[in-house]
Amino acid sequence: MAANIFITDERIEGDDTENEDADADGPLAGRTVAVKDNISTKGVATTCGSAMLEEYVPPYDATVISRLKEAGATIVGKANMDEFGMGSTTETSAFGPTDNPAAPGHVPGGSSGGSAAAVAAGEADLALGSDTGGSIRCPAAFCGVVGIKPTYGLVSRYGLVAYGNSLEQIGPFGETVEDAAALLDVIAGPDERDATTRDAAPDGESYAAAATGDVDGLTIGVPTELLEGADEDVVDTFWDAIADLEAQGAEYHEVSLPSVEHAVEAYYVIAMSEASSNLARFDGVRYGPETETETEGNWNETFSQVRKDGFGDEVKRRILLGTYALSAGYHDKYYKKAQDARAWVKQDFDEALSEADVLASPTMPVTPFEQGESLDDPLQMYLADANTVPVNLADLPAISVPAGESDADGLPVGLQLVGPAFGEERLIRAASALEF
Ligand code: GLN
Repeated sequence: MAANIFITDERIEGDDTENEDADADGPLAGRTVAVKDNISTKGVATTCGSAMLEEYVPPYDATVISRLKEAGATIVGKANMDEFGMGSTTETSAFGPTDNPAAPGHVPGGSSGGSAAAVAAGEADLALGSDTGGSIRCPAAFCGVVGIKPTYGLVSRYGLVAYGNSLEQIGPFGETVEDAAALLDVIAGPDERDATTRDAAPDGESYAAAATGDVDGLTIGVPTELLEGADEDVVDTFWDAIADLEAQGAEYHEVSLPSVEHAVEAYYVIAMSEASSNLARFDGVRYGPETETETEGNWNETFSQVRKDGFGDEVKRRILLGTYALSAGYHDKYYKKAQDARAWVKQDFDEALSEADVLASPTMPVTPFEQGESLDDPLQMYLADANTVPVNLADLPAISVPAGESDADGLPVGLQLVGPAFGEERLIRAASALEF
C-alpha cells in the first residue's frame, strides 16, 4: 500500500523567491512542514479530505499559514485526513487511507493521520494538525511522534475549516518535544481575526526553551478512570513511562475524574451538533461543486443532490445525528444535557489539577488498528477517544509523547499529559523528560 500521506504535494518555499512574506532568517528557515488539509492555504487546494471540496482553492491563508511563511518555513504539502476531521483512523478520507510508517498495515490514527505520518516517515520535519477530540494526540500516539493540543484560545482558528468550533485547536507535531514546541512558538498568540484567542505568552523565553527535561519535584496525577478501558499491554507501557519520570524526581498519585464516564457521549452530541451547523454551507452554492444531475423543481432538491454526492457516510451520519440533537423538542434532552456534562468535566479537571501539576494517562486505550478493522464499527471508533475527548470538553492543553512500544504487539504507545489552561510550558518540560 502506498503511504498516501499527502492529498496535494505542492510546495510553498520558505524563501522569498516565491513567497514575498518569507524571512530567510526566520525561526523555521530551512525546516519543512506538512499541513493538514483543513487549514486554508492561499492558491493551494484545501479539500478537508472530502469530495465536496476536491476543487476548492482558498483565496486566503489561515493565520497559522501566514505565521509559518513569515517564519521562513517551507510547506511541503497538504496532508491526508479523515473527512472534515471526523474519525480516528484517516480511513474516512475521500482520497483513500494513509499507511502508518511506524506500523505498516495499520492506521496512522486520525483525523490528522497524514500530518503525523509525514513526520514519522521523515517527509516533513514538522506538521500542523487540528484536534477537536483527539485528532492530534491520537495520530501522534499511533505514529510514535509528539503532538500538542493547545489550550482553547492559544492558537488562531482563522482559516481552519470548522468541524466542532467550540472544541478544536490547531496544533503542532514534531519528532521531538522541542521540535513541536518550536512550531507552537510560531503559531501561538492572539489574532484579531479570531476573537476567542488570548494573549498568553510563555513565562520563559519560548515554549521550545521549556523542553529541559526537568521533572524534579513534579507531581503527576493519574486519573484511575482513564486506565480502566485501556488494554493491559498499553497500561504496562504507560506505567513504565511513569516509572521513568519517577526515577527522574517526579512523584505520582492516583486522582479521580468521575464525570469522564459521560465524556464520550457528551463530546459526540456537542461535536455532531456543531458539525451539523458548520457543514450547512456546503450546498453547491456557497461552497461545493454544482451538481451534474438534472434537478428540476426547487433548490432543496439541488442542495440534497450536492450533499448526497459530496459527503461520505461518516459525515452524513454525523449531520443527521447532530441535526436531530438540536431539533426543537430534543434540544433539552441531548444538547443541553451534553453541555451540563461538559461543565461537570471541566470542574473535575480543575479539582484534579489542584492536587497535581499534570495529569497522565495512555493517550489511546489501544495500539493502532489494522487497516479496515474499525471502519464498519463507528461505535468502537468513538469509544477509542475516551481519554482524549474529555480534554477538549475542558478546553485544556495536552501533549502526547511516545511512551515506548507495547510488549504484546510491538506497536507504539503514547503517553498523554494534561495541564491547566495555558500551562503548555509545564507539559513540554515534563514530556521532554521522557527523551532524556
Ligand atoms: N475522533 C474524534 C472525532 O471523530 C476526534 C476528531 C478530531 O479531533 N477532529 O470526532
